[in-house]
Amino acid sequence: MTPIQALQKYFGYSKFRHQQEAIIQHVLNKKDVLTLMPTGGGKSLCYQLPAILLNGLTIVISPLIALMKDQVDSLTVMGIPAAFLNSAQSPDEQAQIINQLKNNQIKLLYLAPERLFGSESKLIGFLKTLPVVQIAIDEAHCISQWGHDFRPEYLALAGLKNDFPNVPVIALTATADKLTQKDILDKLALKDPAIFISSFNRANITYRVMPKKNSFDQLLTFLADRKDESGIIYCLSRKSTEALAADLKAEGFLAEAYHAGLDNAVKARNQEAFLRDDIKIIIATIAFGMGINKSNVRYVVHMDMPKNIEGYYQETGRAGRDGLPSAAMLFYSPGDAIKLKGFASVENNEEQTRIMLNKLNDMVKYCQLPTCRRQFLLNYFDEQAPENCASCDVCLSEFTKFDATLIAQKALSAVYRLNQRFGGTYVIDFLRGSKNEKIREEHKQLKTYGVGADISKTDWQRYLRELTALGYLQVTDDAYPVLKLTPKSEAVLKGLQKVELIATQIMDEPNPTEALPFEADLLTVLKNTRREMAVLENVTAYIIVSDATLVEMATYFPQSLDELRLISGFGDIKLARYGRDFLTQVNSYCSERKLSSKIGQKSKKRERKPRAEKATEKIRSSDTRLTSFNLYRTGKSIAEVADERGLAASTIESHLSYFIAIGEMDVLDMVSEEKIPAIKDAIESYGADRLSPLKEILGDDYSYGEIKATVAWLNRNQM
Ligand code: ADP
Ligand code: ZN
Repeated sequence: MTPIQALQKYFGYSKFRHQQEAIIQHVLNKKDVLTLMPTGGGKSLCYQLPAILLNGLTIVISPLIALMKDQVDSLTVMGIPAAFLNSAQSPDEQAQIINQLKNNQIKLLYLAPERLFGSESKLIGFLKTLPVVQIAIDEAHCISQWGHDFRPEYLALAGLKNDFPNVPVIALTATADKLTQKDILDKLALKDPAIFISSFNRANITYRVMPKKNSFDQLLTFLADRKDESGIIYCLSRKSTEALAADLKAEGFLAEAYHAGLDNAVKARNQEAFLRDDIKIIIATIAFGMGINKSNVRYVVHMDMPKNIEGYYQETGRAGRDGLPSAAMLFYSPGDAIKLKGFASVENNEEQTRIMLNKLNDMVKYCQLPTCRRQFLLNYFDEQAPENCASCDVCLSEFTKFDATLIAQKALSAVYRLNQRFGGTYVIDFLRGSKNEKIREEHKQLKTYGVGADISKTDWQRYLRELTALGYLQVTDDAYPVLKLTPKSEAVLKGLQKVELIATQIMDEPNPTEALPFEADLLTVLKNTRREMAVLENVTAYIIVSDATLVEMATYFPQSLDELRLISGFGDIKLARYGRDFLTQVNSYCSERKLSSKIGQKSKKRERKPRAEKATEKIRSSDTRLTSFNLYRTGKSIAEVADERGLAASTIESHLSYFIAIGEMDVLDMVSEEKIPAIKDAIESYGADRLSPLKEILGDDYSYGEIKATVAWLNRNQM
């Protein structure tokens, strides 16, 4: 069986994601591998598939017992023999598993590291008598003290290569900076390892930041469309998680708190209820999340600003593991930053304090960003990204820019006249000619004093922020930050450089979901069916099939097992076990409503995509993408649309690409036919996760717009 055949047969997926195929091939060739993939990227499959194909036992090291059970359940449901050993099991249970191992009846064995190498453990000796063909180390960053989640028991894994010198090791993690990466390789003593780093972009998550005003009301607005969806809400303090849980319950939400101070029993109960969809919302401190593998978390809200980008990205990453559109919302207030500054200082460790403060500053920067949030996040993790992602609040908002050269000159010369020794508040008071006694007498004599009196304080604050973001000013990171000029300032002061700032900002409504036009009632029916199955099998619901699979069924109405096989997520065993029951539901739903199968529209070669019209209907008429598309349809060129809307041409290209993806617009409108093969080639070799490498390979003859359009066109069946 080839890897791709096994992918279809066992997992029910038709294509590999990211670099899964290459990684799997390496393991099959007995090579050591380090894999970095974002949460939800599909790491497990990288060792599960070789485990199926190889003749022998795969040992999986994983830090969390809760996670092991989940993984073993989902493998069992797919017909892959798997087990875990832990101290909570009875001696009988353990003996039974040992027996199965002796008889080569188990393909994957999950273990915690302390179990393998614990002082009294005879396990390692026993395992060495078995035909071990692969060792997978999940959450491999736990071995490094440079990582954010060091676990001393992982250090014992350093001995693995001695015990199993000829067994390929695959180390997997979702977070590892360069230092941690190197540490993992060293500590595990991997032999000539191949390193696979996937893009960390989570394309299905929309990022939003909102100034915090009355956060509970803001939250209720956000939740209004999401009553039936699962979400995680993070708060800074234990007390506020409990208060918020009570408030949400009072509003009729199924919500519970989770924090380290709760009884273990209460924590376990709340977590379990969340996994089973019995409660919809968990309100948590950061103690919650690690090891939560729930795939249908539709949103993550931060009521307070997180301490650093790493934590924020990991927490938001818990949304949308199933690949469906999901939201990240952060309510930001400058007050949070001040509060956190207090926590950032590490006693007797200036160096560490400095690092923490820098990380906090980056987080503040992110919250105040006038440019694409996704780009900032990816750049933060050393990854290139286009300027416009079309799915963060900045890119979804309409900005009108205006010529602000004069304003910039006033601000920069004020900073200059004040000898670059004052902070933003003073500079603004100075510009506005404040009579405040804090303004020094000698400053009141300067020509620049009061030249910005016509502009409000809040506007000045925004302008200074933007000027900083654009690199015309910088803020020092001292205890009392001051504004300074930059190498870019001079050209502005001399009138050689025009500066554009944002005039007004019209925010889109939150969440213009690109929801598929599925039958919502059918989805409810299918969810109930799934819940009954899950109860019978004693597993969590999404282990039977994911929400994404249910949504596909409710979109395409498969009428037979052969048609059901084309739905992503149905491997052979799942088809045999659950197929009929799902089909019965779909059949009766469709015959009542005279609906027929749409599975033909899922096939790759389809020419017309009737779904597309519906997809367009689903976009709100206020959607900025639709505005661009409508203008474009009147016959205007991209440049003209860009001009008319005061947006960059690249933004318009992103907008239009969406319509190519849903089949509303012909790709040939944006790319000439003879260019497509080369772009396609590049995408097939390098993937479409990141545009900049593609651009580099294709060279100057190919624009970002053309590449974007081709990517959208190739993806059009997946929308
Ligand atoms: P990670 O461990 O990287 O966070 P998982 O291994 O849990 O991610 O995978 C996330 C989800 O993606 C799972 O539901 C998994 O079945 C699914 N998945 C993995 N690979 C593929 C693929 N090639 N096609 C479709 N879905 C996939
Ligand atoms: Zn963006």
